[in-house]
Amino acid sequence: MKVFECNNCNHAVFFENYTCDNCGHLTGYRDKDRKMLTFNTKSKSLVSDKERIAYKYCKNKTYNVCNWIIEENSPEEYCNACQLNRTIPNLTDVNNFQNWKDLEIAKHRLIYQLQKIGLPLPSKMKSEEGLCFDFVEQEQDPSLMTGHANGVITILLREADSVKREQMRKQFLESYRTLVGHLRHEVGHYFWDRLVNTNPQVLDEFRAIFGDERENYGDALQAYYKNGAPKDWQKSYISKYATSHAWEDWAETWAHYLHIMDMVETAYFFRINVKPLGIKRSTKTKVSLDPYTIKNFDAIIKKCMPLSFAVNSINRAMGIPDVYPFVITPAVISKMKFIHSLLLSKR
Ligand SMILES: [Zn+2]
Ligand SMILES: [Zn+2]
Ligand SMILES: [Zn+2]
Repeated sequence: MKVFECNNCNHAVFFENYTCDNCGHLTGYRDKDRKMLTFNTKSKSLVSDKERIAYKYCKNKTYNVCNWIIEENSPEEYCNACQLNRTIPNLTDVNNFQNWKDLEIAKHRLIYQLQKIGLPLPSKMKSEEGLCFDFVEQEQDPSLMTGHANGVITILLREADSVKREQMRKQFLESYRTLVGHLRHEVGHYFWDRLVNTNPQVLDEFRAIFGDERENYGDALQAYYKNGAPKDWQKSYISKYATSHAWEDWAETWAHYLHIMDMVETAYFFRINVKPLGIKRSTKTKVSLDPYTIKNFDAIIKKCMPLSFAVNSINRAMGIPDVYPFVITPAVISKMKFIHSLLLSKR
């Protein structure tokens, strides 16, 4: 994620900010060029500092779950990220509200990233090939599950409850379970439909790398939950779950590809330079290029190890888990390279 700057006082502002912490001007994110705009609180209308263009906030600003802006004369009420919501929870319940808020933070980061890659994000409510989100309570319908089906991404609200999520993480023996992780995984299934399944040549390449997705999905998942992952799974897969079926391997690898791109992009915007003091044989890195502009995926992955070494060390200083507790093997890198070149070809 990029670091943003207040147009009034030039201090840094976060992606999620509603105001500049330094000067108090209102902040609003414009997705078409990924810029944070600022607005004087004293003026009646929302006219941006510097550019002097009139905007309105996305309707979800009313709930403080969205700071994206839309041009004032646009007929839309919701921003491009919130237009994709098909179902949101009943907000009279305080817990639901907080859970939804956390989901929106993760969803907006996901949309930022997909837009940066240059992927089209049509709404399912406007086009059959589109995408939409259902944020739902399982209590209302026990058959509901977190997942993807034909452009509909369903996320159970309980995933946003940090206590329940940690319980599930432990129960499924996972080293990592987050909202942004879920969203990145599920949207991977959507883009498999859009980018792989629609192109016979890409589909052939996919099968050569990830295996044959025509294997019965239900049977494969049942077998996975019964027998678990093969012993040597780490050699070829990013996670145990990725071994269950070619579709899940794709979605897991896709999610990790997005994790890596975001980590390296953030490091780029902070100009992070890793050069451990007095360690002669340690890996060094200087992130001097935006990873989304780099064609060679090896150059991106090379930045990851020293970066996570440094960031994990800071996390350990604070007594919190490592930021990226995974091993990326050459086989997994090959899978990510396929995703990287497929996405580059779409730009
Ligand atoms: Zn400011
Ligand atoms: Zn919005
Ligand atoms: Zn999946």
